[in-house]
Amino acid sequence: MALDSGRKQPASTWTKSDAAKPGAPAVTQGHVNPYEMAVQQFDRVVDLIKLDSGIAEILRHPQRELTVNFPVRMDDGSVHIFTGYRVHHSIARGPAKGGLRFASAVDIDEVRALAMWMTWKCAVVSIPFGGAKGGVACDPKSLSLGELERLTRRFATEISILMSPDRDIPAPDVNTNPQIMAWIMDTYSMHAGHSVTGVVTGKPLSVGGSEGRAEATGRGVLYTIEEAIRRRGNSLQGMSVAVQGFGNVGSVSAKLLDEAGAKVVAVSDSKGGIYNPAGLDIKQLVRHREEQGTVRGFRGTEVVTNAELLELPVDILVPAAYENQITAVNAPRIKAQLVAEGANGPTTPEADRILFDRGITVLPDILCNAGGVTVSYFEWVQDLQEFFWEEAEINAKLKRVMVRAFDAVEQAQENHQADMRTAAYVVGVQRVAEAIKTRGIYP
Ligand code: NAD
Repeated sequence: MALDSGRKQPASTWTKSDAAKPGAPAVTQGHVNPYEMAVQQFDRVVDLIKLDSGIAEILRHPQRELTVNFPVRMDDGSVHIFTGYRVHHSIARGPAKGGLRFASAVDIDEVRALAMWMTWKCAVVSIPFGGAKGGVACDPKSLSLGELERLTRRFATEISILMSPDRDIPAPDVNTNPQIMAWIMDTYSMHAGHSVTGVVTGKPLSVGGSEGRAEATGRGVLYTIEEAIRRRGNSLQGMSVAVQGFGNVGSVSAKLLDEAGAKVVAVSDSKGGIYNPAGLDIKQLVRHREEQGTVRGFRGTEVVTNAELLELPVDILVPAAYENQITAVNAPRIKAQLVAEGANGPTTPEADRILFDRGITVLPDILCNAGGVTVSYFEWVQDLQEFFWEEAEINAKLKRVMVRAFDAVEQAQENHQADMRTAAYVVGVQRVAEAIKTRGIYP
């Protein structure tokens, strides 16, 4: 089924002279440094909303950055030094909020970018948090469970000089999960001498987690896609979908899209992808992944690479793995009419421009995957008030927040005749700037 845009595409806010502007892509092909990419995206709206130059300068820089080199005793008795980071981009609107990533590619620029995106995301969904991110450069698959726990507890202790329920509240991201959040909560609580559940979100239910948090990011992706399609007078029924990444965000997005009537035809993980144009049985696939550790080898599918998956003839593409997946190189070949960014930063600025010029709608990360931080906010509120809500209530509240954010972005899109990412930045940056202006520059 074709996705009819149903509305006139607004004129592109990109022009040839943009190449000389700070917001123009730094590279003409392929990968972009994530932090440079985040600053480019920000700079595109500075002129558009006539942002005060002092405030723009504040927001171009992370507010504070902590790098920690810390030892972990390995199972064989040796000591290994790991490097980790915690970056607060802005706390103008509230405590710093953002996930922790454990992956080999983690570095300070990736963490800076992810922290900046968190600032805008929290503002777009209008929750009272600033933006943060953290991570440890490591290969978690090569660690035993004991090593992973010791690494997590030592890293939590190292960054505890920033963490607390009213200052900085981490959450899961790539290769971190509810168990790791429980270890962080326990480590912090041991030092405090009492249980502090609100110091981290994405926890298991048994230690102050929230109903609906595990599925929240994927559910938000579903709600955002449904809104985009509904507002074009179309329905999700029978639309074909490809999902890159089958972790928390990708697998839940695939499952919920399938349940909502879409036909998920391709998914992938770090080992590669699978494709069946007739559709995949997602429930069976989840079982297969649990048993085999990968989606590869699922019966009745052909093998595709992660790069090939992005270019399949589908209606909707959900990148839900890493940054820098849709670049100037492959953007001309993307066939989906709707790109829903489950991942943070999957589309480079130059690819954004190419997709926009081709009439392809991109639902930007800072709107599309904001369901996770929204239910993290609900979890934090429940922990602080020590009163817990039911899942139906949480999902209904999440939907209200996502639809309200979509409305605000759509309004900005009309006001500025811009693409959705620019419009989402307008909403997010204006709200953060307003907070800074109202608070004033200290001293
Ligand atoms: P995850 O660790 O649960 O899953 C990551 C998935 O990506 C795994 O299936 C992994 O095999 C796959 N993968 C790894 N390398 C890949 C590659 N080169 N190509 C394709 N797939 C690859 O992580 P997650 O929490 O699902 O996060 C995925 C993305 O969503 C990240 O960009 C993250 O920042 C973003 N995000 C996560 C949340 C959340 O609540 N977890 C919220 C908002 C945004």
